[in-house]
Amino acid sequence: MRKRTRDIQKALSESGYRITQSRLAVIEVIMRARHSLSPEEILARARKIEPSVGLATVYRTLDVLHAEGYLERVRIGNKGYTLACEEKSLHFHLICERCRTVIELQSNHSSDALLAQLRAAGFKSRKNAVEIVGLCAKCQSPE
Ligand SMILES: [Zn+2]
Ligand SMILES: [Zn+2]
Repeated sequence: MRKRTRDIQKALSESGYRITQSRLAVIEVIMRARHSLSPEEILARARKIEPSVGLATVYRTLDVLHAEGYLERVRIGNKGYTLACEEKSLHFHLICERCRTVIELQSNHSSDALLAQLRAAGFKSRKNAVEIVGLCAKCQSPE
């Protein structure tokens, strides 16, 4: 188990969530993933760690992780995917619609200024990731 998974397990149980082996497997899969995953993909990977995981557990665990700010949901086409993201400041998710790799671009001064304007407008944001969908460098090159 990765350290990050253990940290999250600890934080969630301190918040009163019951963390079963199934939920732990789901958390581990998301923390390990290099690209965004659909619930079905998370299920398939989690079952390799804990064979008794069911799809309902995947959805419930995703809801908990989302509510606690450990992940982001992205949409590619009409399908929803999930990725580990705990960044609270303004940043960008460059999402490849072919391989579903998500590249995180951290904020710079201009986006900090944007965030300051947003606060000045009295808006309290909960999620600060801007999604940009397209093709990554690898997927643009002909095979
Ligand atoms: Zn992010
Ligand atoms: Zn790609």
